[in-house]
Amino acid sequence: MAPTDEIIGATAAAANMTEAEERSRPVSNLLFIIAMQAEALPLVTKFQLTEDTDRSIFTKGVPWVRYYGNYKDLQINLVRPGKDPSLGVDNVGTISASLVTYASIQVLKPDLIINAGTSGGFKAKGASVGDVFVATDVAFHDRRIPIPVFDLYGIGARRSFSTPNLVKDLNLKEGKLSTGDSLDMSPHDAAAISANDATVKDMEGAAIAYVADLLSVPAVFVKAVTDIVDGEKPTTEEFVDNLASVTAALDRAVTQVVDYINGKCLSEL
Ligand code: SAH
Repeated sequence: MAPTDEIIGATAAAANMTEAEERSRPVSNLLFIIAMQAEALPLVTKFQLTEDTDRSIFTKGVPWVRYYGNYKDLQINLVRPGKDPSLGVDNVGTISASLVTYASIQVLKPDLIINAGTSGGFKAKGASVGDVFVATDVAFHDRRIPIPVFDLYGIGARRSFSTPNLVKDLNLKEGKLSTGDSLDMSPHDAAAISANDATVKDMEGAAIAYVADLLSVPAVFVKAVTDIVDGEKPTTEEFVDNLASVTAALDRAVTQVVDYINGKCLSEL
């Protein structure tokens, strides 16, 4: 074996060791990425988190908001992308989600990311309003690049961190998640979502998965259904009507998930 091979081999073995070791110690540093204030605040209250009013962990001037605290044996950070500085609405969508995920991982070095939020659901795939899904897979439905291989890059399908025990023990539903930057659904989106075999659709998940993958942090996606996309009611109306009650369901499920994670290592989830 050439010396360089030996070094590469040794480094890889050390890296594997570290990863194996990491997976066999209890999760201690949990990062929530949550797009909307209305989704985030009930969890801030539930876990008695404190807002970091100083915001010094992020570059000066960004609207991102961080809450932090300890819950049981866990150190919890919850980060949301905040409000658009001129329009005052939540910074939903993939761009802000990617940026806050990247910056938060760099600074907070979490063991595990949970992206919790609301989503549209497909009744043809078994979703009802108020259901909470854990995403097995994520992909994009609005990045169409019809050139071989670029097409796959655009779709960006990846499996999320697998949590078979958590899903089984908490009796949660599982399904695939499709992400795009629009709340409504164009015919193009509909075809792509169906090709992605998705049960739920949101505006952040696959982007957060991309960044988490890039920086090798496991990520899980907990999505509560606010609106039925293939139902009769218009999405925006249904979303607004159900946001408060579904956020409460999301809050209950996320609390169960956090209680389950507490004291366990990644390989036990
Ligand atoms: N009218 C809302 C706008 C929120 S945008 C407001 O009052 O602020 C929708 C947010 O909820 C996004 O963060 C997205 O991830 C999620 N979402 C809920 N239902 C969705 C759907 N049918 N399609 C895409 N995203 C949805």
